[in-house]
Amino acid sequence: MRLNTTGNTFLGFLLVGIAAGLFCGWYFGPSMISVAWLGTLFLNALKMLIVPLVVSSMIIGIASMGDVRKIGRVGGTTFLYYFTTTGISVLLGILLVNLIRPGEGVVLGDASIPQVVAGKQGIGFSDLILSLISPNIVKSAAELQILPLIVFSLIFGGVLTTLGEKGQPVLKFFDGLNEALMKMVRLVMILAPIGVFGLIASKLGEAGGGDAVWVELIKIGKYFMTVLIGLGIHAVIILPLLLLLLARRSPAKYALGMAPALGTAWSTASSSATLPVTIECTEQRNQVGRRSSLFVLPIGATINMDGTALYEAVAAIFIAQATGIALGPGQQVIIFVTATLAAIGAAGIPQAGLVTMVIVLNAVGLPLEGIGLILAIDWFLDRFRTTVNVWGDSVGAAILDRFFPGDHIPEPDKEPA
Ligand code: ASP
Repeated sequence: MRLNTTGNTFLGFLLVGIAAGLFCGWYFGPSMISVAWLGTLFLNALKMLIVPLVVSSMIIGIASMGDVRKIGRVGGTTFLYYFTTTGISVLLGILLVNLIRPGEGVVLGDASIPQVVAGKQGIGFSDLILSLISPNIVKSAAELQILPLIVFSLIFGGVLTTLGEKGQPVLKFFDGLNEALMKMVRLVMILAPIGVFGLIASKLGEAGGGDAVWVELIKIGKYFMTVLIGLGIHAVIILPLLLLLLARRSPAKYALGMAPALGTAWSTASSSATLPVTIECTEQRNQVGRRSSLFVLPIGATINMDGTALYEAVAAIFIAQATGIALGPGQQVIIFVTATLAAIGAAGIPQAGLVTMVIVLNAVGLPLEGIGLILAIDWFLDRFRTTVNVWGDSVGAAILDRFFPGDHIPEPDKEPA
């Protein structure tokens, strides 16, 4: 049978995979660790495509814009979108956590600094800037560090467009490479229903099954709900409104088109691993022009993280409430700024936000030990915030497509569009 990944039958299979994974992981607990390899297979297949896909997408994305002025306009609008939506989500998080006050009554106890952030105390703003340029692009590619690859490819693509005739064959090469990779994405997606089943069932199993997860959830249920409510408002009200008003698209239809990517994001907890599926869904299922999807999505998967930003702010203020440290308005402004930066700095990999939260906590002098409070269920919350991160990127692609339609690589003898 030929499974068409753009059709709704495929979506049905994917949903069954997610539901079966949840059910089996919840009820059969640790024995489900035995299906982890199914998830790993799918994840590896996605990761295999990331580096060539990011490089070719960025080069084609930038080249298809034609002249430098246009790059400036599209780039400026893209970053305006990223910062505005991230800012809105942090603000929402800060409002909710101050309103619900989930940290009151929670005791920190004699927790120590968790292993994941131990040794990371010194990370700061300069590390963020330094991570943009890699001294060894091959090593960065091998380690799946996407940000320096994006920077390299953007500059490379931009320079290629200035070479006239000489640059054309190189651009055509990357264009063909990109098309071939997108075909491979469609092949890999056939694995998705089984892959998401393996990922979800084994992760729940690793956590001890449904009962064990439930016990942890109850302990800090109010915090969990605060983040979830915030993510919900951002994903179901704010982003759809932007989609409707700015991109003039039906949010429900667009979300349905993005469903495989959203399901993959929830299952993998990684925006980067989901990127191939996100590009496929925006282009094929939602007919967003190639220029927008190839330019907006790879950068978005790395720096535009609305869900992570909201979570960073809520978690930091939750830790302050639990440790009895009162935060004044000035400190909440610092949290607003640093949570945005911490989300930009977080890589699109599982629980990256937990590590960059050190930036937020350090900025307002909160104890890193507080991270221990939210650690046990962070892997679970990560899935929700990653889904919102990917949704935010896709909405951005639709908006950019409305304002800057078109998807061709200009020929050197023609006037750039
Ligand atoms: N897992 C998230 C992502 O890949 C990042 C984070 O919040 O930890 O988008």
